[in-house]
Amino acid sequence: MRKSVRDVDVAGRRALVRVDFNVPLADGAVTDDTRIRAALPTIRYLLEHGAAVILMSHLGRAKGKPVPELRMDPVAARLAELLGRPVRKLDDCVGPEVEAACAALQPGEVVLLENTRFHPQEEANDPAFAAQLAVLGDLYVNDAFGAAHRAHASTEGVAHAIRQRGGQAVAGFLLEKEVEFLGRAVENPERPFVAILGGAKISDKIGVIQNLLGRCDRLLIGGAMANTFFKAMGFEMGDSLVEDNALETARALLAAGASRLVLPVDLIVADAFANDAHTRDVAPDQVPAGWRALDVGPKTIQTFESALSGARTVVWNGPLGAFEMPSFARSTFALAEVLARLDAVTIVGGGDSVAAVQQSGLADRFTHISTGGGASLELLEGRTLPGVAALDER
Ligand code: ADP
Ligand code: MG
Repeated sequence: MRKSVRDVDVAGRRALVRVDFNVPLADGAVTDDTRIRAALPTIRYLLEHGAAVILMSHLGRAKGKPVPELRMDPVAARLAELLGRPVRKLDDCVGPEVEAACAALQPGEVVLLENTRFHPQEEANDPAFAAQLAVLGDLYVNDAFGAAHRAHASTEGVAHAIRQRGGQAVAGFLLEKEVEFLGRAVENPERPFVAILGGAKISDKIGVIQNLLGRCDRLLIGGAMANTFFKAMGFEMGDSLVEDNALETARALLAAGASRLVLPVDLIVADAFANDAHTRDVAPDQVPAGWRALDVGPKTIQTFESALSGARTVVWNGPLGAFEMPSFARSTFALAEVLARLDAVTIVGGGDSVAAVQQSGLADRFTHISTGGGASLELLEGRTLPGVAALDER
């Protein structure tokens, strides 16, 4: 366990807070402020408990040099509205002017540093650059779960640098909650523990499948990932998305996890990759030549529902079908309904899976919806995130 903001005295301190403000922008305005809102509990807590707050984040792919369109000004404006207090945006994230502005900061005041990725030393995790960041505060708070799987200066190096100067490095509430839910689900789940994996590719998620297969009571497979398993079992999959270079891996996983793996029992096949294609519901070994599996079928949802009954912990990553097309979104939404009704800890992680659950309108019936794509997959792989490992031990 790592320390969180609750474990330290924050009054009168200058808190240097790494947040994930990597938000979408259009015409100089923030178009989706979900990530800004997600950081508010930590920011408010620090302000209410007498700290001065210095925020920093990356934004977009600046590749180590200033990019005018990737300045943090629109983010500062939106944050000020949400907080109901002024937020001063500084023109850089390091250097004498930034140091002076941060040193003069009073309790209850907020500044936002410029995009950390305007400096190449950020992604290089350069120790001298991390030390320049560390002089800005006397307490480092990492609340950027979405960036915690990267060992960058503002997510990793700075924690060590601030400790060297006698400061502390702790987790914010968002980071703490993510690690608590995803970490506990994987390491120490209440059983039965059922995992559901879908999405496009096995190769993206070999580490996740291996780790979960070793820890869960059942592993349900859907999405295009199932096609590769079926091909590995010798079925003809027509024009379905199959990863031929992952067939060996699929065979090994089938052999290792036979008793725990639950594969689809029917597939929705289509004569074209289009929402208005003709469709049929077929057994997995009956995919007609020239057709492709784009969703799992209703019998599979029944099978999955039985496999989930009585589960106490459920982790879901990856849509069960090509859900961007309404004709092939049915099973993904049906699964969301099944999970919403369960009396279990239900956790969803992964960019597309989270988008699907949000579209289903059932998001508030899940225990935890992860905000980080790559970071949540790394936790599901059982890895320790560098941005978490660098924080003070409780
Ligand atoms: P996540 O972002 O939740 O980790 P992935 O990125 O692994 O999920 O997978 C999501 C993608 O998988 C979606 O774009 C979806 O269309 C695709 N997909 C799922 N099932 C199929 C299928 N049967 N055929 C083609 N694509 C599929
Ligand atoms: Mg994805």
